[in-house]
Amino acid sequence: MKAAVVRQFKQPLVIEERPIPTPQAGELVVRIEASGLCHTDIHAAYGDWPVKPTPPFVPGHEGVGIVTRTGPGVSRIKEGDRVALPWLGYACGTCEYCVSGWETLCQRQLNTGYAIDGSHAEYAKASAAYVGAVPSGLDPFDAAPLTCAGVTTYKAVKVSGARSSDLVAIFGIGGLGHLALQYAKIAGATVVAVDVTAEKLAMSKRLGADYTVNAAEEDPVQAIQRLGGADAAIALAVSPRAFEQAFGSLRRKGTLVFVALPADNAVSIPIFETVLNGITIVGSIVGTRKDLDEVFDLHARGRTTVIRETRPLSTVNESIEDVLKGRISGRIVFDMASTSADVAALSREEVGAG
Ligand code: NAD
Ligand code: ZN
Ligand code: ZN
Repeated sequence: MKAAVVRQFKQPLVIEERPIPTPQAGELVVRIEASGLCHTDIHAAYGDWPVKPTPPFVPGHEGVGIVTRTGPGVSRIKEGDRVALPWLGYACGTCEYCVSGWETLCQRQLNTGYAIDGSHAEYAKASAAYVGAVPSGLDPFDAAPLTCAGVTTYKAVKVSGARSSDLVAIFGIGGLGHLALQYAKIAGATVVAVDVTAEKLAMSKRLGADYTVNAAEEDPVQAIQRLGGADAAIALAVSPRAFEQAFGSLRRKGTLVFVALPADNAVSIPIFETVLNGITIVGSIVGTRKDLDEVFDLHARGRTTVIRETRPLSTVNESIEDVLKGRISGRIVFDMASTSADVAALSREEVGAG
């Protein structure tokens, strides 16, 4: 099978031929149809974070595909089912976090596309207990971005406590942000979308944002304070400065949700204003299996729109460049069928040339 492999941090990924994995007890193997390119894959490939993956590894944690084999002891999922492989690839199932619906905080968790080879490949292996069941009728190319961008922002909006009378500011309208603003609308809030490109702000309007602010052209703090200040701000832009602006945009008693994970791992937030204004700052990491079920269910009922562009896996390096330059609306989703077709065409050409 073909897989996109990080061999060294900050070097282009290499498309390699690898054996199709074999499932052990409790595991299954999935023929990947669609795999979304999350900005986290780029952090992984760059070794951006304090806890780093060990190359060589295959990134990708928005994988959707069909189960081709199951190992011993797998009963919930059968061969032929369509499943989603999320960031939370494995958790212990018994610690205080796992048993209280916070498996995303399990200290023994293993993450897909980081500690476990991920979905930017024709096949991937996964722990059956942690894959999501994709409802029939859901387009796999929509399901892929929902598997991380969707579940993460659905959870972040929940954690923000957004209510119908609230003004919610979303900083960064990329893969995550374009879904975050829809979940904030579903919660009934008035939404202000902040980004640095006109295209993303135009997309935000189409997706239901009530206000947009181009932070490259005007100060989002002033713009949002003019609206009365945000009850909640969700930081999704890969920039500490945007976190600081999100803080500045809050009204008294507001909540700032940290979601993005920039390599530059620090922000400067004033203590005095945090205390006197009664601000809450909360970190939010992906979402649980229950959250993912809810995200799929909302999409199946037509409540959300996924903006995505499909490409073959062979474009992985230029796709990373495009995300870093802010040139993509929504998500890039790798189409593994076209990846296989690409490879078949390539080998036909080689035969022809010989
Ligand atoms: P993305 O690149 O698709 O989106 C980022 C967006 O921020 C882009 O639209 C970009 O134009 C915009 N932006 C850049 N600078 C800005 C600024 N100064 N002000 C406003 N907008 C700005 O990335 P993504 O896939 O949406 O991921 C975003 C971040 O979230 C990444 O750091 C990723 O690792 C992290 N993430 C966290 C979790 C979690 O569970 N906490 C889950 C998934 C992703
Ligand atoms: Zn992700
Ligand atoms: Zn646990």
